[in-house]
Amino acid sequence: MERLHNLIGGQLVPAHSGRTLTTPEPATGLPLATLPDSDAVDVAAAVAAAKAAFGAWSTAPAETRARYLRRLAALVERDLEPLALAESRDSGKPLQLARTVDIPRARHNLEFFADAATQFASESHSVPGQVNYTLRQPLGPVACIAPWNLPLYLLTWKLAPALAAGCTVVAKPSEVTPWTAHLLGQLAVEAGLPPGVLNIVHGAGDTAGAALVSHPDIKAVSFTGSTRVGAGIAAATAGTWKKLSLELGGKNATIVFADADLDVAVNEVVRAAFANQGQICLCGSRILVQSSIYAEFRARLVARTRALRVGDPLEAGSDLGALVSAAHFAKVVACIDRARAEGGNVLTGGAAVQVPGRCEGGWFVAPTLIDGLGPNCATNQEEIFGPVATLLPFDDEADAIAQANCTPYGLAANVWTRDIGRAHRVAERLQVGIVWLNCWMVRDLRTPFGGVKASGVGREGGWEAMRFFTDAKSVTLTY
Ligand code: NAD
Repeated sequence: MERLHNLIGGQLVPAHSGRTLTTPEPATGLPLATLPDSDAVDVAAAVAAAKAAFGAWSTAPAETRARYLRRLAALVERDLEPLALAESRDSGKPLQLARTVDIPRARHNLEFFADAATQFASESHSVPGQVNYTLRQPLGPVACIAPWNLPLYLLTWKLAPALAAGCTVVAKPSEVTPWTAHLLGQLAVEAGLPPGVLNIVHGAGDTAGAALVSHPDIKAVSFTGSTRVGAGIAAATAGTWKKLSLELGGKNATIVFADADLDVAVNEVVRAAFANQGQICLCGSRILVQSSIYAEFRARLVARTRALRVGDPLEAGSDLGALVSAAHFAKVVACIDRARAEGGNVLTGGAAVQVPGRCEGGWFVAPTLIDGLGPNCATNQEEIFGPVATLLPFDDEADAIAQANCTPYGLAANVWTRDIGRAHRVAERLQVGIVWLNCWMVRDLRTPFGGVKASGVGREGGWEAMRFFTDAKSVTLTY
C-alpha cells in the first residue's frame, strides 16, 4: 500500500496524530493507499507555514514565481507516466484518459500561469494633472480545495494562479483521490519551491476541510466540489470577509438541432455524456434532440453507446473504467432505479457491470441512456455524476432553450447546429457559464471558467483567476 504524506513547510509529514485514512482502488475494491487523517492542528501548522512564506513570495519578482511554476511543470511532464498511473488507480478512470487529458492539462495549467505571472497587468487611467491606477496585491495565504473527479487537473487549476499571483497556498485534495497530490508535493520539494509557499493537507472534508476554510489567516477559498458542500462553505465563512470562488455541480444540456452534422455530433455527444464515466462536471447528461430527427439520432446514440467498452482502466481498450467509490456506485445505481420508477425507458445499459479477473470487486456501471421522462422529474433535475444520460425531444429553438434552462444548475452546455445565427442566439440565451458550439470540453485557459445559479459564483481561468487571488486598490496621484 502507498503511504501518502502532507506537505507542510517544505516537509513531507504524516498527520500530527499519526491517524490515517485508507482509500481503495475503485477498479478492484482493494485498499490502495493510506493518507494523513489531518485535523485542525495540521491545518494550523500548514497555514502558519503559508503565512510565514507569504512576505518573501508575494514580493518576489514575477519572473521568479514563474520560474518555480515552470520547474514544477517540467517535473510533471517528466513524471507523466507515474502520475497517470497513480491517477488511474486512485480514481478508476481509464489510464489512457489520465495520460492524454488529466496530466497534460495539469502541466499546462502550471505553464499557463507561469506565463501569466509575467504578463499580469493592471489598469491605469491618465488625465492631465492626474494618474489613477489599480494596484493588484496578492491576498495572503489562500485555501484551494479540490474534488475527486479530476484530482490533479483541478488542484493545479487553483494553486497555479494563486502562486502566480503571489499568494501562498494550503491545498486540500479530495480524500477519495489523494495520490497525485502527494506526488505533486514530492515534486514541489524537488523543484525547490521555498518552504511554506505550497502546503498540501490531506484528510476528510468535515475535519481538515472545515478547519481550513474557517481558519482566520486564510484570506480566500477557491473551492470546486458539490453544491451542498459549497453552500456549507459559504455559510461557514459568512461574516469573515474571505473571498470565495465556488465551482459546483451541474446538470448540463447537450442540444442537437436537426441541421447539425450528425456524424460528428453522435460521437461527441456520447463522449460528452460518458467521458470519465460521466464524472466530469461538464458532462452533457441531458441530451435534447429536435423532434424531427429524434428517432434516428436516438438509434445512432444507442448504437454508439453500446460499442463503448467498460473494463479494467489499466487496459488500453477500456473506454470506461470504474466509478470512484462504493458509495458513489450505490448512488448512481439508485439513480437508475429511480429513473425506472419515474417511468423512464432504459435504452441501453441500466445495470452494474462485472469485469472478470483483477477487477471483479470493482465498481463498474454500463453507460446508460434513458428516455421517456419529462424535463421536471428528479432524474432530469438532479446531478447524478455518473454514466447516465437522458434523451428528451424538443420542438424548436425556444423549446430547446426553455428545457436547457429549467434546472437549478447553470454550468455548461454544448450545442450542435450548422446555423451560425442560431448558434449565437442560443449561446446568448442559455443560463450557463460555458457554451460549446459544435464541440465539447475544448478549453482556452485565457477565457473565464465557471457556472451560474447553483453551479457556482466567482470565475476561474485566465486573468479572472489571477484577479481573484488579488485585492484591487485604487491609487490616485495628482501633480
Ligand atoms: P465534495 O463537495 O464532496 O468534496 C469536494 C472537496 O471538498 C473535497 O476535497 C472534500 O474533502 C472537501 N470538503 C467536504 N466537506 C467540506 C467542508 N465542510 N469544508 C471544506 N471542505 C470540505 O465533492 P466531490 O464529491 O469530491 O466532487 C464531485 C462534485 O464536484 C460534483 O458535484 C461535481 O459537479 C463537482 N465538480 C464541479 C466542478 C466545476 O468546475 N464546477 C468541477 C468538478 C467537479
